[in-house]
Amino acid sequence: MVARCSFWTDSWSTVGPLSRYAPQLFTAISRTGRKRTLKDGLDQNLWARAIVGALTAQVLCHYLQVWELLRGVTLNPLQSDRFIWKWSSKYSASSTYRAFFAGSTTLLGARELWKTKAPPRVKFFFWLALHIQLWTAERRKRHGLQEVDDCALCAQAPETEGHLFLGCVFARELWFSLLLPIGLATIMPEHDEDIREWWMRQLRRLDPSAGPVLDSMFFACRLESLKGEEQQDI
Ligand SMILES: [Zn+2]
Repeated sequence: MVARCSFWTDSWSTVGPLSRYAPQLFTAISRTGRKRTLKDGLDQNLWARAIVGALTAQVLCHYLQVWELLRGVTLNPLQSDRFIWKWSSKYSASSTYRAFFAGSTTLLGARELWKTKAPPRVKFFFWLALHIQLWTAERRKRHGLQEVDDCALCAQAPETEGHLFLGCVFARELWFSLLLPIGLATIMPEHDEDIREWWMRQLRRLDPSAGPVLDSMFFACRLESLKGEEQQDI
């Protein structure tokens, strides 16, 4: 039997390496104790005898956590150590790539944007919009770059993304002229709201074949809105 798995630094349990699971306790372990294998550490609880540092409240807390964890651990003396790829039943490059994104969050609309047949610069623009990173007047004011955040088109409300592309009276006029000829006037935006939620809601409402049409409209409307704003700034 080959048993070289390190008690503290190898990822043999569901919580990962114990040195990371209980860092305060790990700092209190002697140098020799840190090099102990799992088999030796479990033998008569030798791992606990290697605690040489100060027994602070955090060390004791981590000690109890590790103790609780080890209660259910029983080694099979006939089984040698072996590597297990935990991201899939068998190692593969694709599972490794997916592992890079473990724990990452998804952005509303990102997948739909990826599938959209829009020019790259439009996609990039919309990508910023999904992250609420466009330099609207409201954002510029928030960063101390200007004193007012009025909408450059109507001057009746703060220029947020939701207002500029959905709620603004000029934007709604544009939407109406685009949606009416193709019979989609019912999805007209009615007020300022989160553009991501509005877009996703309308995509769910529409027939799948109408989705690309809406996408094109959406991007076109946004670009026209911006062009209008730039002209007013000039
Ligand atoms: Zn406006």
